[in-house]
Amino acid sequence: MRLFSGIAASPGIAMGRLCIIDRRRAVVTEYQINSESVNHEVARLAQAIEDTRIELEVLKTRLAETNGETHLFFIETHLMILADERLITETSEIIRTGMINAEGALRRTLHRYREAFAGIDDPYLRERISDVETVIERVLRNMSGEAIEPLPEQEGQVIIAAHDFSPADMLQINRNNVLAIITEIGGRTSHTAILARALDLPAVMGVEGITDLLLDGVAIIVDGLSGVVIVDPDQETFQTSLRRKQHYEYVEYELLKTAPLPAVTLDGHQVYLRGNVEIPEEGASILNHGGDGVGLYRTEMLFMNRLCMPDEEEQVAIYRSMQEAVAPHTLTIRTLDAGGDKLLDGMDQASEINPALGVRAIRLSLSMPDEFKKQLRAILRVSADGPIRIMFPMISGIEEVRRAKALLQEAKQELVDSGTRFDSAAKVGVMIEIPAAVTLADLLAREVDFFSVGTNDLIQYTLAIDRSNEQLSHMYQPLHPAVLRSLRRVVQAAHGAGIPACLCGEMAGDPLYLPVLLGLGFDELSMGAGSILRVKQILRRCTLERAAAIAEGCFAFSTSAEVEMYLKSQITLDVAESID
Ligand code: PEP
Ligand code: MG
Repeated sequence: MRLFSGIAASPGIAMGRLCIIDRRRAVVTEYQINSESVNHEVARLAQAIEDTRIELEVLKTRLAETNGETHLFFIETHLMILADERLITETSEIIRTGMINAEGALRRTLHRYREAFAGIDDPYLRERISDVETVIERVLRNMSGEAIEPLPEQEGQVIIAAHDFSPADMLQINRNNVLAIITEIGGRTSHTAILARALDLPAVMGVEGITDLLLDGVAIIVDGLSGVVIVDPDQETFQTSLRRKQHYEYVEYELLKTAPLPAVTLDGHQVYLRGNVEIPEEGASILNHGGDGVGLYRTEMLFMNRLCMPDEEEQVAIYRSMQEAVAPHTLTIRTLDAGGDKLLDGMDQASEINPALGVRAIRLSLSMPDEFKKQLRAILRVSADGPIRIMFPMISGIEEVRRAKALLQEAKQELVDSGTRFDSAAKVGVMIEIPAAVTLADLLAREVDFFSVGTNDLIQYTLAIDRSNEQLSHMYQPLHPAVLRSLRRVVQAAHGAGIPACLCGEMAGDPLYLPVLLGLGFDELSMGAGSILRVKQILRRCTLERAAAIAEGCFAFSTSAEVEMYLKSQITLDVAESID
């Protein structure tokens, strides 16, 4: 028996036989060419890129027929990488100046991209190199005549292990035969991981060397909850994993049955439980888990991993597919929250000494009004076909909201002038993520239709704790008295002005905090799909009155440790069990 550990990328436990898929690099030899061959090599490169484009278009059509439109986003990303002029111009330049063959030059271009991506702090963006690699490997294979094998039809039920497994691969697997996925590279925020979660397929990623060390057919257990892969398990380990799997599936099964139940407390108080999403693929999963639409659509994913900003039509298409995935429920679209550590490739952004306090989110959007209006028009156009809310991130004061709203007004006028339909009454809200916004909440509430508290950032800025610094993670405390006082103030300000108070930070998805958030009076909580049912279960066992008393009780304590102890002592046994 052997144990490998990796990253728990998609929850669930699977046991079965291993099937290794070799998606390794095409074999490339670099050699010198003479000056007469330069044009020929450049032409070969162009031809291989074109062949790859056709191949992807064919794959896209085939997948659209078999899987529908919803998962095509990834292939479109690959087509966009391929369409980037720089790929061909930079590689041709290497062919010309280095006098080397096209394959060697393309490999060097890939190397440059790898170096550039490796220097990116944001893990989501950094992992986007895997899309570039997949595309370039395809081109290389086309140049060498080594076609990418379609995935072999899996015999019986298997667990697939691959060095890398592209999103396109993911979409080709036969869901009835594949029980889980293991990859050697990639992480939780890779597209493949996002898709695995959207498809409810357990996955462990970043398991180094697994495809070299193991042979096809070996018995294997994949634990997507703990990130462990067990090879050739002994009888006892097998039984323990089996019980763990059964328990997990039983809880999931029981929870899924509750998906259609309303999110109401025992005393009949309704709270909207909504989902946080990044890509349209996640929309269906929100509804399957009983979510009431989307409370936070992080649009920045659409702007990343590319060299130019998406145009209005492309944005409309993506927002529309998200809207269709969650119809007829509300879709809350947050305008671009980039900048800081989330740099966009297509923009010239000066590097900042303190990016978390830099040109981020709404500040960035306001600094490029044409791009901002393009996004606003795209959102508004989609609003014609279903309930859409528009949300501005990182608002620090009244001027920012007013400027954002003025640009929204201009975008509306432009649509009116061109005779384009939109919902003129689409709700407009702000995220409360900066302490100044908490202090000004009463004034801000007069300007907008709803608040949504982004606790991930609000905690970061209130406590001056970098949210991505593991060394400070013990100080990142949602129950810190300063945070709780801020939350109370925001809800009071919202209700004072007659607008709803929502919360869409990670705090919303932790069942332990539910009684406090409910008791403070939040009207809506938005979280990852996987958390909705657990939170709903606790909600349905509480009364608003009791939650309000628990929340009030929290304010008697002066440290987060005390608040946490108090909170745990207040939660009744059956509620505590479901939290475990
Ligand atoms: C937040 O800050 O809580 C939030 C939801 O936004 P993001 O995590 O995207 O910064
Ligand atoms: Mg935020």
